[in-house]
Amino acid sequence: MEEILSVKNIRKSYGDITVLDDVSLNVSTGEVVVIVGPSGCGKSTFLRCLNGLEEIQEGQVILDGKVIDTEKDDLFSIRERIGMVFQSYELFPHLSVMQNLLLAPVKVKKRNKKEAEAQAQELLERVGLLSKKDSFPRQLSGGQKQRVAIIRALMMHPEILLLDEITAALDPEMVREVLEVVLDLAKEGRTMIIVTHELAFARAVADRMIFIDGGKIVEEGTPEEFFDDPKTDRLKRFLHSFLYED
Ligand code: ADP
Ligand code: MG
Repeated sequence: MEEILSVKNIRKSYGDITVLDDVSLNVSTGEVVVIVGPSGCGKSTFLRCLNGLEEIQEGQVILDGKVIDTEKDDLFSIRERIGMVFQSYELFPHLSVMQNLLLAPVKVKKRNKKEAEAQAQELLERVGLLSKKDSFPRQLSGGQKQRVAIIRALMMHPEILLLDEITAALDPEMVREVLEVVLDLAKEGRTMIIVTHELAFARAVADRMIFIDGGKIVEEGTPEEFFDDPKTDRLKRFLHSFLYED
């Protein structure tokens, strides 16, 4: 399959502290890569390096054959092409759901309002929230807000979607409704890089699993290899930490 994103030997440090050390990853169009790893291992930093939210000290991020240059490139256009959804939904509280969805496409990108509204309606319908289009974020549950945040990213027609622990702040009963949306996007052939602690979901959605520890990719493989036959002690220990028995 065609390669859409290629990360070559990136190093990221904050001052003297190296947070990502020689990380490489190739992602094909339509592929779903799931990243897991202990807290503080560099997962969020990695995603942020991909769409120009962080400068890297060494290495390259190549999007569709072109090296991203955080100094020279238009980072807004990079972030449209590589959309990102975070743990905190970051919806504008004073805008309705529909206004939140239209803000970037219509106000910033000057897209045709009717056309963008039609797209927003269709996406809202798809995630079961059309009836909430005129509600404000405070009137929505966490799971509903996160579904709006996902489709807000889709409004920009991103080539790749980065999801950073998007269910981590949700009550357990709302996790599923958000993950269902992501599974649906995977079925539709979306290219995604997902950071999550929901291992059952990871197994269901991933084409490839990656384990990061201490700023390095320690192990990767198909979900079957990764979960059923982990090779490194570090991954074994990490997976074990999710179990209750000892
Ligand atoms: P994860 O998402 O895997 O929990 P992060 O990517 O958020 O980890 O963080 C990786 C490491 O980088 C942590 O040790 C964190 O303290 C450090 N870090 C993250 N952001 C900054 C920053 N802006 N300045 C300094 N250190 C940071
Ligand atoms: Mg993180």
